[in-house]
Amino acid sequence: MKKNILRVIFIFFVLIITSCENNQKPNEINIYSQRHYAVDELQYENFTKQTGIKVNVTKANADELIQRLKIEGSSSSADLFITVDVGKLWQAGDMGLLQKIEDETITSNIKKEFLDPNNFWVPLTFRSRIIVYSKDRVNVNELDSYESLADKKWENRLLIRSSSNSYNQALMSSIIANNGPKVAEQWSSDIVSNLARDPKGNDRDQVKAIAAGQGDLAVVNSYYIGLLLSSEKEDELNAGNSVGVFFPNQRVDQSGAHINVSGIALTKNSPNKENALKLIAYLTSSVAQQTYVDNTYEYSVNPEIEPNKIVKQWGDFKKDNLDLNMLGVKRNEAIRIFDKTGWK
Ligand code: FE
Repeated sequence: MKKNILRVIFIFFVLIITSCENNQKPNEINIYSQRHYAVDELQYENFTKQTGIKVNVTKANADELIQRLKIEGSSSSADLFITVDVGKLWQAGDMGLLQKIEDETITSNIKKEFLDPNNFWVPLTFRSRIIVYSKDRVNVNELDSYESLADKKWENRLLIRSSSNSYNQALMSSIIANNGPKVAEQWSSDIVSNLARDPKGNDRDQVKAIAAGQGDLAVVNSYYIGLLLSSEKEDELNAGNSVGVFFPNQRVDQSGAHINVSGIALTKNSPNKENALKLIAYLTSSVAQQTYVDNTYEYSVNPEIEPNKIVKQWGDFKKDNLDLNMLGVKRNEAIRIFDKTGWK
C-alpha cells in the first residue's frame, strides 16, 4: 500500500516537472540572423516585455547560417532565419530549408509589392542601393543610371565595395534580370575600368573616401547615409555631409532604383512555430517598423510608416519592380560575371 502511495506521488512529481518543461519550451524562439544593427536587440527586448517569449539570436553571415541549417536538418533549434539580402532567403527556400508563411495578421501589415509570391519569406525593411556623389566635384545633372556609371567620364572616379558582398551581388543580379547577361558583363567590365581604387571597405568607407577626395561618386545602401548624417563622430558626419544622394534609373523608360529587402523566414523544422509567427507579426507592426526607420534609416514595408525625417528629405523615388526573388535566381550568374570581368 505504502509502495503504491509512493509510486503515485513519484508519478505526480514527474508529471509536474514534465509539464513545467513543456511550458518553458514554447516561451523561446531561436533566430539565425545576418542582420548587424543594434536596433534588433531593442526590438527583441520590446517583444519579450510584451509577450514573455525569450528570443535567442545566433549571428553569422548568411552563407554560414544556410550551411548550418542544412547540416542540422530536423534537429535544428532555429525557428527563424533573418538576412539583409532577399537573394539568400530565396536560396534557403530553394534548398528546402524553409516553410511557407500564410498568416493574414502578418501579410496585412505589409505593402503587397514587397510580399514573396511564394510565401517563403516576409520583408522586414527595404533599402535602395543608391549613387552618392561629391557635392564639390560632381554636378547632379551628370548622373542618370547604374548603366551610365560605365561612361568613360567616370574613369578613376568611381568607388564601390568588393564583389563578394551580397549587396553588390544583388545589384548585379538585377542588372542581369533587367538587361540580360551580355549587357551586364560589358557593364561590369566598364565599371572595373572606372574604379578610383581596388574595391575595399564597407559602404560607409566609400563615402568617407569621397570626403577624403579619393573618388567622386559611390554606390551604397541608402540607410548608411542616414547613419552617417545622424552620427556623433565628426568624421562620419563630415562624410555624410560631403555627398549628395541620387536615386538612379528614374526616367519613365528606366527600371527604377534597385531595392533589396532585409527579411525573415520560418525554418522548415521550427520547434516554436507559433511564437515565431508572433515575432514576425510584431516586427512588421507599426510600432516595430517605426523603431526600425528611426534607428537604422531603412524604409518601412508597412504602408502606415513614413521614412525617418533625414531620409524623407531625399524625396520619393521610383523603385525597380523586378520580382525580388530574381536577386537570388540570378546570383550564380552575377558571381560568374564578377569573376570574369575582374571585379575584386
Ligand atoms: Fe548593411
